[in-house]
Amino acid sequence: MSMNNQGRPTAPSVANSNEVATVSGNKGLLQDEKLIFEIGTPRRSGVDFGEVPSGKSRLGGMERTSEIGLPGLTEPQTMRHYVRLSQKNYAIDLGVYPLGSCTMKHNPRLNEKVARMPGFADVHPLQPQSSVQGALELIHELAHWICTLTGMPSVAMTPKAGAHGEWCGMAAIRARLDADGHTHKRRVLVPESAHGTNPATAAQCGFSIDEIPATKDGRVDMDALKAKLGDDVAGIMLTNPNTCGLFERDIIEIADLIHGVGGYFYCDGANFNALVGRVRPGDLGIDAMHLNLHKTFSTPHGGGGPGAGPTVLSDALKDFAPLPFVTKDGDSYHFVEHKDGAGAASFGRMCAFHGQMGMFTRALTYMMSHGSDGLKQATEDAVLNANYVQASLSDVMTPAFPGVCMHEALFDDHFLDGTGVTTLDFAKAMIDEGYHPMTMYFPLVVHGAMLIEPTESESKQELDRFIASMRGLAERAKAGDVEAFQAAPIYAPMRRLDETQAARKPILRWTPPSAHLEAAE
Ligand SMILES: *Cc1c(COP(=O)(O)O)cnc(C)c1O
Repeated sequence: MSMNNQGRPTAPSVANSNEVATVSGNKGLLQDEKLIFEIGTPRRSGVDFGEVPSGKSRLGGMERTSEIGLPGLTEPQTMRHYVRLSQKNYAIDLGVYPLGSCTMKHNPRLNEKVARMPGFADVHPLQPQSSVQGALELIHELAHWICTLTGMPSVAMTPKAGAHGEWCGMAAIRARLDADGHTHKRRVLVPESAHGTNPATAAQCGFSIDEIPATKDGRVDMDALKAKLGDDVAGIMLTNPNTCGLFERDIIEIADLIHGVGGYFYCDGANFNALVGRVRPGDLGIDAMHLNLHKTFSTPHGGGGPGAGPTVLSDALKDFAPLPFVTKDGDSYHFVEHKDGAGAASFGRMCAFHGQMGMFTRALTYMMSHGSDGLKQATEDAVLNANYVQASLSDVMTPAFPGVCMHEALFDDHFLDGTGVTTLDFAKAMIDEGYHPMTMYFPLVVHGAMLIEPTESESKQELDRFIASMRGLAERAKAGDVEAFQAAPIYAPMRRLDETQAARKPILRWTPPSAHLEAAE
């Protein structure tokens, strides 16, 4: 396949002899679309600007003299560009999005309606607090729901993502250790099955990481854990349900062991959607845990944002929570913004303002519209759906671990042994079937992992269609149709991309073709 100077294929390639390359490059009603820089020109504009009055520059000779080079498009060109791009995007509003660990579930439109109310959508973080009492009440109310659902005494609302919440929890643990003079406690135990952000967070907070292996049944190896305990242990970072989609049954014993050496228990709560209404983390001895509002509580996410990672803290850690936070005095709400009074022990600020207002509004709407019974049912349905997928595929694919799963079904690649088809080929073939692939090659403890999280928002009909496609692919692989798999995806606009090159040598800057030609001469 030939590439243009941006590293993109010059034209969609022809899949097989039955498919003819079109003159236009379009595939049916799916339009080929170039980069905005390739279609726009600096001299075109979608709006009429008045003459700029000439005046004396006050920039002291710093003003730009050359063209800024932004691509100019007319309004219809702009519309088409973005609509065409959006059609190439897979979305939860289009179909099943079984990306394990990411909880791609339906975002109820009621959440959007409430989030767009001007009193929530248009608040400014620097407005006087007396003029945003409703917004502060919402943050306070959401904090109350989170504490109730988790059974924890306090929650820090500012973290803006799951990983940011991890950082918040580990920073609070570090602040507590320092306050107690326990500066020798710098080792954090991290199970092998942990999400990649866990060891990264511990390292970022100045801890060293000590890995605990998993047992054959995908859970923490308790003997290995006990062997690693010691006075220098600051704590453990554990995901539950873990990234193998399994509940860590020994969690209470793990909490007791960690507390026994004076350490703290960080639980990665990104998978709380498998527990809501059934298990309260506060009852399990957890000291800190972030929730991903954008996963468990359905606020839309993907493509880098937005997110919200409120972090619940135990009595031992709550005084160290980041600034600012909302408190209630009588009938009014205000922010504690400084390291004095209620904020005296805080480890400080982790971001400029107060968190993600839009995510807060959506999450609280989701909680209140479901009610506690509805939230519990969502959890149960998520677990039921994952087990339905696992059970329906277990004769043609290989579940990584025996027994029931939580909200994710994990398969390994043993069912592909001897076929020549890899997990990657299988995932690419799913694109042709009209599905976003599941999470691949993660968790690392499982060979050729395929992690499927259907979520509770899929109906039985949708799941049956998905299962039928997966069965069909598994059977085709076993029938020896390797070439079809290796050619997949044939219906995607750009076919199979060189992902290694794209990751290792990304071309992030567009240069005009003329500059390229000059450089070549
Ligand atoms: C998604 C996820 C995270 C990270 O959350 P972000 O919001 O992407 O930072 C951490 N741990 C687990 C288990 C997750 O699934």
